[in-house]
Amino acid sequence: MQKANSSSSLIEQVEQLHTLLNHYNYQYYVMDEPSVPDSEYDRLIRELIAIEQNNPELKTLDSPSQKVGGEPLKAFSQVTHQIPMLSLDNVFSSDEWEAFVNRLHDRVRHNEKIKICAEPKLDGLAVSLRYVQGVLVQAATRGDGSTGENITENIRTIKSIPLKLKGENGIDYPEVLEVRGEVFMPKSSFKKLNDTAIKKGEKSFANPRNAAAGSLRQLDSKITAQRHLDFYAYGLGYVGNLKNDSKVFLKNSHYQRLCQIKKLGLPMCPEVLLLETTDQVQEFYQNILDKREALSYEIDGTVLKVDDVVLQEKLGYVARAPRWAIAYKFPAQEELTIVEDVEFQVGRTGAITPVARLKPVFVGGVTVSNATLHNQDEIERLGLKINDAVIIRRAGDVIPQIVSVVLEKRHSNAKEIVFPKTCPVCDSNVNRNEGEAVLRCTAGLFCQAQRKEAIKHFSSRKAHDIDGLGDKLVEQLVDEDLISTPADLFKLTEIDISSMERMGVKSAKKLIVAIENAKETTLAKFIYGLGIREVGEATANNLANHFCNLSAIQTASFESLQAVDDVGEIVAKNIIDFFKEEHNLVVVNALNEIMTWPNIVMKKVEELPLTDQTFVLTGSLSQMGRSEAKAALQSLGAKVSGSISAKTHFLVAGEKAGSKLTKAQNLDITILSEEDLIKLFAKYT
Ligand code: NAD
Repeated sequence: MQKANSSSSLIEQVEQLHTLLNHYNYQYYVMDEPSVPDSEYDRLIRELIAIEQNNPELKTLDSPSQKVGGEPLKAFSQVTHQIPMLSLDNVFSSDEWEAFVNRLHDRVRHNEKIKICAEPKLDGLAVSLRYVQGVLVQAATRGDGSTGENITENIRTIKSIPLKLKGENGIDYPEVLEVRGEVFMPKSSFKKLNDTAIKKGEKSFANPRNAAAGSLRQLDSKITAQRHLDFYAYGLGYVGNLKNDSKVFLKNSHYQRLCQIKKLGLPMCPEVLLLETTDQVQEFYQNILDKREALSYEIDGTVLKVDDVVLQEKLGYVARAPRWAIAYKFPAQEELTIVEDVEFQVGRTGAITPVARLKPVFVGGVTVSNATLHNQDEIERLGLKINDAVIIRRAGDVIPQIVSVVLEKRHSNAKEIVFPKTCPVCDSNVNRNEGEAVLRCTAGLFCQAQRKEAIKHFSSRKAHDIDGLGDKLVEQLVDEDLISTPADLFKLTEIDISSMERMGVKSAKKLIVAIENAKETTLAKFIYGLGIREVGEATANNLANHFCNLSAIQTASFESLQAVDDVGEIVAKNIIDFFKEEHNLVVVNALNEIMTWPNIVMKKVEELPLTDQTFVLTGSLSQMGRSEAKAALQSLGAKVSGSISAKTHFLVAGEKAGSKLTKAQNLDITILSEEDLIKLFAKYT
């Protein structure tokens, strides 16, 4: 290495980056077990590339910036790729994409519009499938780009990959054809695999990409077969012995080549689009980003390829990537941060939940500084200590979660997490019921924390929807001893409220009106608002429809409660326990005096108009919330399920409906729009 011009600290920094990146590469590519999130890896590799650009003498042939992937595993026989399998360079913003486009135009002195084949960046692993005379004879991983692992037997277990191509050799396809694409694990298979592993106390996979790689690189193809992998083709490798007729196979458009491959029976991602100009890329990127959660497979960005194959050849390659394609990646959903402390929160039902206080980190589009740790079992599963470096994940609207501890970054200041012996809020005894993972405060409504949470729940949108009564205000009112139960809300005066922080006379007046309005309710909402453990909206609805009045529910026996839909032994016990507690009865009776709800006319379940009909809701509904629609359907006797199956009768598809809509269409299920649904409600209510 010629390092004459570089300072020793810079040389040291580059050496450290090499060591670290080589180690991360090994963990990721060889072991299928990344030790840091991709965002951390991407930051470090960019740091290295920036140093190398400013100090070319520090760029060596063995630099991680010049390498593709990792060494192939020795346990597999090796395959030399006739045409190397490269990686892709990345951009992360519209400015970087523009810069890439400018470079394209400069390089080829091409002033015309450049067509782009726009594809989702599938999060799996690249494979090359070799067909000779239309028969699959070999499949290999990318490996280090020039040599991959022979995984033919494992590939044969993937149902969507044809063992024989459709069409006629020499006419529809050439004698030798290498198809390249991504093997990936659908989200549903990934979830099943990890749920089973966790249940058995086995190690789970960090993400679907590692699960796919770990499943494909198995020595026993029976294991691969059980893992439900899938495949999308996105390019060609070696193409040999083209007969005259089959030359037509090689169109000059990358997109058309993919369509041609699809005709041979290989799956192509349905989201792939041919864009007429580079200006359309931003819109494509945004559309795919919006669809991301609804797709049945994981993606981490888009891949944008110059469509004109002659132009591709002119542009050529750099060491590890083509110049005619780029990965335009989505913002990271996983980041590295530190657990600075663990605190314990007491919930509405006394559950004591450990919450990790994190060094704030920007992930999945927001800054995250807390993550729930659920319970002691979860902490043990993660092996977490205070001051540990952790990978935090925030995908879509899902609450942030700690995925794993980065053990190799653990310092000597790592501290055990100690669970409290008494309630951290009221100091009462705590217990852990048999078979439950959760520790609970035993004080019920005597515990300040439980009081606050009970009132917040009572006034929440799905219960009595008291507009203007935010969490902070409830906390203040309880701390000031102005209220201690939901029933006390109705005694509040304008003066009480306006004396709270940040509350003016106007907002106090409004709140009093909202509280007054909450007096009129329904039996289902009343039951739900009580906050009985595990009695959610649907169960509250079923209880109301079944018993028709409050006292019947209060006095129902263990057996009769279980006759209600959705109520099993545990929920029945929770209901009985709730109404046994003296302090709960005081609140229920007080509320019963204050609140009113229309009598439910006794109607046998069989007489309800939508009995025996199963609905699924998907996409966003603009005029009513999904939960509101669900509750309304249930009150008409319908079953509302979370997933589509042959038993589904109707799918209500709101805006941005995704994979459920496609599945329903395939199964010929009746699709209703939000308007259809509203008409249906109007008909029956
Ligand atoms: P890459 O994943 O950034 O891009 C190249 C790969 O994209 C191809 O090999 C192919 O498998 C895939 N791909 C998906 N859809 C495609 C499409 N439509 N067309 C073409 N290719 C498509 O590159 P890479 O070299 O495999 O990996 C580098 C990335 O891997 C890094 O940016 C980093 O995010 C991650 N990585 C992470 C760690 C870690 O420790 N966390 C270590 C190494 C690499």
